[in-house]
Amino acid sequence: MISDPQPLKEPQTMRAGPSQEDIRRHNLGALLRHVHLGGPISRAELTSKMGLNRSTIMALTSDLTAAGLVREELPRETGRAGRPSLVVRPESARVYVFAFDVGPDRLVAARVGLGGVILDRRETTRERGKFALDELAGVLSGFARQMRRKTRDDTVCVGAAAAVSGGVRKGDGVVTFGPNLMAHDVPFGEELGRRLGLGLPVSVGNDANLAALAEHSRGVGVAVRDLICLHGDVGIGGGIITGGHLLGGFDGYGGEVGHMVVNPGGRECSCGSHGCLEAEVGERALLELAGRYGPGQHGRDAVRAVVDAADRGDIVAQEALSRVGDWLGLGVANLVNIFNPEMVIFGGMLREVYLGSAAQVRSRLALHAMAPQREHVRLRTSALGDHATLVGAAELAFAHVLADPLEVLARVSI
Ligand SMILES: [Zn+2]
Repeated sequence: MISDPQPLKEPQTMRAGPSQEDIRRHNLGALLRHVHLGGPISRAELTSKMGLNRSTIMALTSDLTAAGLVREELPRETGRAGRPSLVVRPESARVYVFAFDVGPDRLVAARVGLGGVILDRRETTRERGKFALDELAGVLSGFARQMRRKTRDDTVCVGAAAAVSGGVRKGDGVVTFGPNLMAHDVPFGEELGRRLGLGLPVSVGNDANLAALAEHSRGVGVAVRDLICLHGDVGIGGGIITGGHLLGGFDGYGGEVGHMVVNPGGRECSCGSHGCLEAEVGERALLELAGRYGPGQHGRDAVRAVVDAADRGDIVAQEALSRVGDWLGLGVANLVNIFNPEMVIFGGMLREVYLGSAAQVRSRLALHAMAPQREHVRLRTSALGDHATLVGAAELAFAHVLADPLEVLARVSI
């Protein structure tokens, strides 16, 4: 579901007999990753975290400083005697990527600086309906141009990526299916790249996969190597990280947990099947059960209204959440049995649904998940909230730079 072959995780262990240049490239990427994800850090801390000696760290930071990716400063107050260790900071205002989020109800574009800082952002609502490639790519590239005009002369765009609520073919950014976006075989990455005119490819990823990566990199799942992120919008998407790596599957469509059948013979699903998790737990199911489904009644606000009504004692809303929570818990129990995650994260509209039905989810988990898998699993809500998919897109865009910082910088023009 990620169109980009670059891994977002730490660079792999070097193969036998790497050249000095390979090692240097690997170390530059690893150091930049520390600064990008962890923020300002002293040379002394880098020395200890990376297991390299001081002179190597100094050489690496010098290279990255000369390239304009980081800068080094004296720390403000150390409170300690002796010469303080220089602090390495990302050049967030200078080096940036464009991140895009295409959801059923909104389009978002952002300029995100190295270090993950959202420097500028544009958003517009989208009418649910056909995926009009020209129109969508036009709106997003227009936003990017507006933001670019406001940048200083010395800034450099090093990548671009988009999160899309649909299935994305590995390698070429084609959105092959997206029932909730009404997209079918749309060459989205190629078209957006052409419109942006930056000479950069646009990587495309499934929104739930990118939400999982975002929570893993910067959210509630930092340092958690086995997690499942369930992301709800109109439908339900999933991102599965196992052993620190996103599960993609053979064609890149792995992790479609929304179409796991939990209720054979149940509600009709947008995929053509019946009783999928998405059909039983998604927005429409909840609103119908709560007696609130109808024209103009959709989106995050409508879901939140059901949860609020249940909190205020509305019996119909409480029963709707309880029913949906049962199916959600059943789905989570299956996933826990299969993947043995350390954490399950509920994001997008599922954050609200989970908060309103946690008791049902937990009781289903207790009933259906096997004890050894159930014992350590933590159920959490997204820390990044509505930003998760956009943050994930930005991380996808930065992946090239972190894999080979100097090569990317040599390729892009200021
Ligand atoms: Zn389905």
